[in-house]
Amino acid sequence: MIQFQALAQTYGTPLYVYDFDAMKEQFEALKEAFRGRKSILAYAVKANSNLSVIKNFAQLGSGADCVSIGEVRRALMAGVPKYRILFSGVGKRDDEIREAIQSDILYINLESEGELARVEAIAKELDVKARISIRVNPNIDPQTHPYISTGLHDNKFGVEIDAAKRMYIHAKNSENLDAVGIHFHIGSQLTQLEPIYEAAVIVADLLRSLQAIDIELKFFDIGGGLGVRYDDETTISPYDYAQAILGALKGIDVTIICEPGRFLTANAGYFLTKVLYEKKNGSKRFVVVDGAMNDLIRPSLYNAYHRIEAVGKTNDVSPVDVVGPVCESGDFLAKNYPLPAMEHNDLLVVHSAGAYGFGMGSNYNTRGRSAEIAVENGEARLIRARETFEDLIALEREYL
Ligand SMILES: *Cc1c(COP(=O)(O)O)cnc(C)c1O
Repeated sequence: MIQFQALAQTYGTPLYVYDFDAMKEQFEALKEAFRGRKSILAYAVKANSNLSVIKNFAQLGSGADCVSIGEVRRALMAGVPKYRILFSGVGKRDDEIREAIQSDILYINLESEGELARVEAIAKELDVKARISIRVNPNIDPQTHPYISTGLHDNKFGVEIDAAKRMYIHAKNSENLDAVGIHFHIGSQLTQLEPIYEAAVIVADLLRSLQAIDIELKFFDIGGGLGVRYDDETTISPYDYAQAILGALKGIDVTIICEPGRFLTANAGYFLTKVLYEKKNGSKRFVVVDGAMNDLIRPSLYNAYHRIEAVGKTNDVSPVDVVGPVCESGDFLAKNYPLPAMEHNDLLVVHSAGAYGFGMGSNYNTRGRSAEIAVENGEARLIRARETFEDLIALEREYL
């Protein structure tokens, strides 16, 4: 049991709290599912990019899936070995590509023919062979929220099968490219196994057809996307997930790379916020809290549901909108959520806030970002200090 009240007292609110032991359990469960196969779990750093969180996974043997050179630097700083770091993402600047190649990470995931040309040119300048993998867009509907669907031709991600084939053939004939992997990632918060299986079959078929023309790849990178339970969703078990992938890979000897983000961190994180006041507009009830969309944007952005616990309250509940101080009607943490009558300084705990919470935060309304706390073996420690006003203005010039 995490002592939320005591943590709120010690560190103030709004506050992010991460259960490092729960994160470890999720990692071990997924690793176990792929037992007996060569596999790398490369934690998707964007889900929660705090250095201590990354380090917690690195100590368990995790790799890192990064989507900017900043994330690559974080992974290296947190102790992830370079040979387990991937660099993905739909748009990479030349300086990012150059640094990734020079850092000698495992490979760069390419998402267009234009990007292949840039990586090749930069590798040539550096007089090296750049290790690459190609993200295939299998045109599969992952049946998730449209903003986090990535595996349809309508989405900006990856390349079509035919383009991928051309790119692999080009790489084979290039002095400066070394194609080592194949990649797909069809979306996030996936709760249906079928689309993942279908995508894996399509990409495995492509892998076979490449083998037939003498292009041998070592890594089969299945992306991330494994969904978690926020409310009452049915989720995919790690075992079923691994079995589906292994089924699609029958007869192929490759190292499986999996890039879980949300699965590892979402339900291990809590967002603590205090009630400022209750109010009513007509018959509509609002609880105004000190946390806002700049801290946790998922409800505003995806209409996402988060379970909310009113600490120490047991009286009758009625529907309420939980809203923050930000000057936007879209600033809410929950709508029509059943909560008891709330008073000034009562504590609310927003559950499942460990993924795409702090990391998607902003300083909108000149609000400093929350502190972040790790809880491990029953002990709490500060892993990121609360931002101060001075932090927020530190880079501004010419204001005097
Ligand atoms: C975001 C992302 C992930 C992680 O997704 P989750 O849904 O958090 O598991 C993995 N791979 C790539 C390429 C991504 O963009």
